[in-house]
Amino acid sequence: MKEIILIKYGEIILKGLNRHIFEDRLVNNIIKVVGEKARVYKSRATIYAEPASPEYNDEIVDKVSRVFGVVSVNRAAVCEKSLESILEIAKDYLKDELSSVSTFKVETKRADKTFPLKSPDVSREIGGGILAAFRNLSVNVKTPDTIVNVEIRESAAYVYSKKIAGVGGMPTGSSSKAMLLLSGGIDSPVAGYMMAKRGLELVGIHFASPPYTSLRSEEKVHDLLSKVARYSGRIWLHTVPFTEIQEQIREKCPEEFFTIIMRRFMMRLSNMLAANTDCHALITGESVAQVASQTTLALGCTDAVAEYPVFRPCIGMDKEEIITISRKIDTFNISIQPFEDCCTVFTPRHPKTRPQLPDIIEAEKVLDIEGLCQRAYEGIKRISITADGVE
Ligand code: ATP
Ligand code: MG
Repeated sequence: MKEIILIKYGEIILKGLNRHIFEDRLVNNIIKVVGEKARVYKSRATIYAEPASPEYNDEIVDKVSRVFGVVSVNRAAVCEKSLESILEIAKDYLKDELSSVSTFKVETKRADKTFPLKSPDVSREIGGGILAAFRNLSVNVKTPDTIVNVEIRESAAYVYSKKIAGVGGMPTGSSSKAMLLLSGGIDSPVAGYMMAKRGLELVGIHFASPPYTSLRSEEKVHDLLSKVARYSGRIWLHTVPFTEIQEQIREKCPEEFFTIIMRRFMMRLSNMLAANTDCHALITGESVAQVASQTTLALGCTDAVAEYPVFRPCIGMDKEEIITISRKIDTFNISIQPFEDCCTVFTPRHPKTRPQLPDIIEAEKVLDIEGLCQRAYEGIKRISITADGVE
C-alpha cells in the first residue's frame, strides 16, 4: 500500500487575486524543508508530498507541520478509483484506529465529478462496508470518535483518518523582511516566531558586550535562533560589538537613564542594519510593565529613534502566556540557561520608570552618537543559522 501526505492550507486567508502567489510560496517553502525526500506538487487547494521512500514519512510530516501556512498534514493511503479498492484499503490501512474506537462516520469529497457515485453515496457504501467488518463500531454523524475521510480526485482516491494540525499563519516570505532584536531571554525568540508566523522573513541582530558578556551567551543566541529557524527558515544573524557604547554610557550619562539610552542605541544600529538588509520593520520581545525600560513612557523614548515600525507581539501578554509559546517552540529551556546579556551587565540600581524624552536627549548630548554607531556597525559579524545550527 502506498502512503502519500496531503497538506491542507487555509483557504480563506489565501483568497483573492494574490492567492497563487501565496500558494506558490507555500509550495516552495515546503520543498525547501523536505528537499529530495519527497516530490511536492499542488492540485486543487491541496499540496501533495509523495515520499521518495516510506522511511521518510515521519520526518516529512514533522517538518511540514511546522511550515507556516499549513493548517493540517494528513497521511493518506492511495487507492484506485473504485468503491472496492477504497473499501479494502480503508479496512486495512485504518484497522488499528477502527478497532480501538466505538463510533465513526465517513466523509467524502469528490473533486473528480466524473466519478459515477455522488459523495453521500460513497460515504454510505464505504460506511456500510466498514460496519460489516468491524463489530465494535456504530455510526455517529454528530460526534464520532473518528472520521474516515475519502477524497476522490483526478488521478487517484485517498483514504485517511487522523489529521495532524499544522502551525497555521502565512507562508514565510509573503510579508517582506523584518529585523528581530534577539537577546538570550524568553521573550524575543517568541516575538520572532509570532511575526514569522505572519509571513515575515526574519533577519537577526544581537548586541554583545565582551568581555562582560561571554562567548557562551552568543552561542545561546545561536541555539535559540536555530529553534526559530525550524519554522521561519534560514536566519542571518548579525552580532554587534556593543562594549564601547555601554562603557561610554556608563562613564558619561546619569545612571538612572542607562537602560533607556542603551536601548536607543540598539534602535539606531537596528535602523542602520535594516536599511542595508532590506528590512521594513523591527521586532522586539517587549511587554508593557515587565521591567522599568518597558513602561509606556520608556517605550516612547525608545520608539522616538526608530525609523521603522516596531512590532512587539508580546506587548499585551503576561509572562506565563509568553512562556507557553516558548515551550511550544522549544526555546524555553535554552532561554533559562543563566548566561549574562548586555542588558543585565550595567543595570542601574534605580532606573527611571517615567523618563521624559527631552531629559534623555539632553543626557545623550555628551556622547559622540554618530561615531559610536559607526564603529559598532563596522564591527558587525554575520553568520547564517538554520534548523541544523550555524552553517
Ligand atoms: P527577553 O526575554 O527577550 O530577553 P526581556 O524581557 O529580558 O526580553 P529586555 O532585556 O529589556 O527584556 O529587552 C527587551 C527587548 O530588547 C528584547 O526582547 C529584545 O528584543 C531586545 N534586546 C534586549 N537585549 C538585546 C540584545 N543583547 N541584543 C538584541 N536585542 C536585545
Ligand atoms: Mg533580555
